[in-house]
Amino acid sequence: MSQSPPKSAPKAVYVKSYGCQMNVYDSQRMADVMGAEGYREVATPEEADLILLNTCHIRERAAEKVYSELGRMRVLKEEAKAAGRDVLVGVAGCVAQAEGEEIVRRARVVDLVVGPQSYHRLPDLVARAAQKPGVVDTEFPAEDKFTKLPTATAASTRSRGLTAFVTVQEGCDKFCTFCVVPYTRGAEVSRPVAQVLAEVEKLAAAGVREITLLGQNVNAYHGVGPEGKEWTLARLLYRLAEVPGIARLRYTTSHPRELGEDLIAAHRDLAALMPYLHLPVQSGSDAVLKRMNRKHGRDEYFRLVDRIREAQPDIALTSDFIVGFPGETDADFADTLDLVRRVGFASAYTFAYSARPGTPGAEMDGHLPEPLKTSRLHELQALVAGQQRDFQESLVGRTVDVLFEKPGRKPGQVVGRSPHLLPVQVIGPSSLVGSIVPVRITATKTNSLDGVLVGDDHMMSVHAAE
Ligand code: SAM
Ligand code: SF4
Repeated sequence: MSQSPPKSAPKAVYVKSYGCQMNVYDSQRMADVMGAEGYREVATPEEADLILLNTCHIRERAAEKVYSELGRMRVLKEEAKAAGRDVLVGVAGCVAQAEGEEIVRRARVVDLVVGPQSYHRLPDLVARAAQKPGVVDTEFPAEDKFTKLPTATAASTRSRGLTAFVTVQEGCDKFCTFCVVPYTRGAEVSRPVAQVLAEVEKLAAAGVREITLLGQNVNAYHGVGPEGKEWTLARLLYRLAEVPGIARLRYTTSHPRELGEDLIAAHRDLAALMPYLHLPVQSGSDAVLKRMNRKHGRDEYFRLVDRIREAQPDIALTSDFIVGFPGETDADFADTLDLVRRVGFASAYTFAYSARPGTPGAEMDGHLPEPLKTSRLHELQALVAGQQRDFQESLVGRTVDVLFEKPGRKPGQVVGRSPHLLPVQVIGPSSLVGSIVPVRITATKTNSLDGVLVGDDHMMSVHAAE
């Protein structure tokens, strides 16, 4: 019989996040919900009494990663047992939702499986798993998990830094034919304005200065406002910009079909809204977009890009691409390369199509051989890498506002983020952490920028010499 540690013993939880930013947010909320039960969050699985893997199911490789990690967890659990300590292992997130009981059958090390809509029930599931391993909860419960979840304490918010994610919309009704999200995250739901506002106010009171609003289709946000009417994402952003302490706002991920006029205008008029837009297009071929059920064509995407650049010429545009979707011809792929050249991205995530069980794409004719997908992926990645370099080089000599977040790796260094979300390092005092300061960009590295503090050259040379 499994022995739980005595009630009075301090317990520890380790949550490992895979995949998207929403999983990062969910992992924090899982740590918060167990925190309210007396668990402290730890940074390594070796220290933990409860290990939660918050998984991603978007591509086959992401899902398979979980099983290799569970192999490691089995060894760890056995070692703890030999030392007289019981460890519980849980699988959460989208693999949990998609595979449910199959996980427990395939990996005996797993004590509990919890889907993304049920993690507010974790304390109960953990207690049950301690008595009898193999607990599975992948329901889409009627109750709203957000109303049941405790918010982070000020101390844990501070330990997570000056920037925070806040999920405002979850699930998806778009059913792109390659994607598992509508099945693993369920139907599209927006959180009410008052709930989001309360969470942001609490984060701000604990010192957070930058908020990224999250949703699978965040720009389809339509949460109910205090007066009972639905608010758009733009309206929510304007309201959040008024929260004392909040200096910067971002949002991700957007769907081209939902990019409303008011959101585009907010990029022109709302100073707190950073000039950065992640707008996945997936392919540059109309034929492929149609088979993907994206509900927009390439020209529509070009028009959107023009409108957004007209409103905010300084915007950094990023995107997601899938190459090798079933039936993609050389000409279709050439259209994708052409779209990339015409738009000019600051960066992009590029993926080889991965057939996901249960999605319409998996059943389509014309699946491409892996080597062809790989060679197209490499060609696209080379093009995107060149654009990323060009974008970063275009910033050299410019002065940008940097929100400093932490000391750098080298002595005397502090690092922060530019409005375009690029890491920027300068030599400067650690007292800069928490402030937004103008920095002149002097050089670009692979994924970051070097800079000097503006108007502080004397101080800079003193610190550089230290
Ligand atoms: N909701 C967003 C959208 O509409 O683009 C993003 C959702 S998904 C979490 C993130 C990215 O994973 C997608 O934009 C797509 O490029 C990629 N992706 C999704 N399913 C995939 C699959 N079956 N194979 C390869 N990449 C995939
Ligand atoms: Fe997946 Fe498409 Fe929904 Fe994005 S919009 S989450 S890619 S189904």
